Amino acid sequence: MPVRKKRSEEYIKFLGTAGARFVMINQLRASGGLWISAAGKNIIVDPGPGSIVRCSSSRPKLDPTKLDAIILTHKHLDHSGDINVMIEAMTEGGFKKRGIVFTPQDALEEGPVILQYLRTFPEQIVLLKEKTEYRLGDLVFQSSIKHIHPVETYGIKFDINGTSIGLLSDTRYFPELEEFYKTDILIISVVFNEPHPGIDHLCLADAERIITQVRPHKAILTHFGMRMLQVKPHIQAELLSQHSGVDVVAAYDGMTVGL
Ligand SMILES: [Zn+2]
Ligand SMILES: [Zn+2]
Repeated sequence: MPVRKKRSEEYIKFLGTAGARFVMINQLRASGGLWISAAGKNIIVDPGPGSIVRCSSSRPKLDPTKLDAIILTHKHLDHSGDINVMIEAMTEGGFKKRGIVFTPQDALEEGPVILQYLRTFPEQIVLLKEKTEYRLGDLVFQSSIKHIHPVETYGIKFDINGTSIGLLSDTRYFPELEEFYKTDILIISVVFNEPHPGIDHLCLADAERIITQVRPHKAILTHFGMRMLQVKPHIQAELLSQHSGVDVVAAYDGMTVGL
């Protein structure tokens, strides 16, 4: 799949590639999540802090009032910071009951991140559960097994025009990941360059293990922590390509992948 600068009809746009609190706080990379346009639907995944700003500063502009769905992989702030403003946008301030919010249950309970008064605005709030198929018009996606992360977390897998696309969200490594994320395009959250035992995030060695097992057509690294930025993600991606024989690239803010 070509990585294009120009927007095509069906695409994934990275509104952010920040992956840890200091990268987010300092906005060394943006934290706006992923915008997906496919099968006539517009979806935002994990609208973190600044997502709304990234939509309006995008060229061409992305219009959040045209969203059909918001998917939250988990409630951590770098993923959910702008979810409430996105719900307002999708429903035009609550005046149009429209759109679906897909979210783990714990984002609504115990320290909820979705404001109570907004919950009646969308057409539906659908709970993400393990290994479940969801439908948004013609667009089908599946949730992963539960990730190993401090809060309820799922990755997702889309099928768009016969191409499978995996979004591997925050998790500690475990071998079952490789089974679910057997996809053509695999987007992987790689926070660390070196292993950090005891912290539930992937490092480069985990990413290499997954990529070598899955062998996607293209792997895209994203969600970078401070140390990852210091060792330059594009250089690490190049090294990973050489080791694995798989086309591996590092995402950058504003990167668009045509589908
Ligand atoms: Zn995160
Ligand atoms: Zn997280």
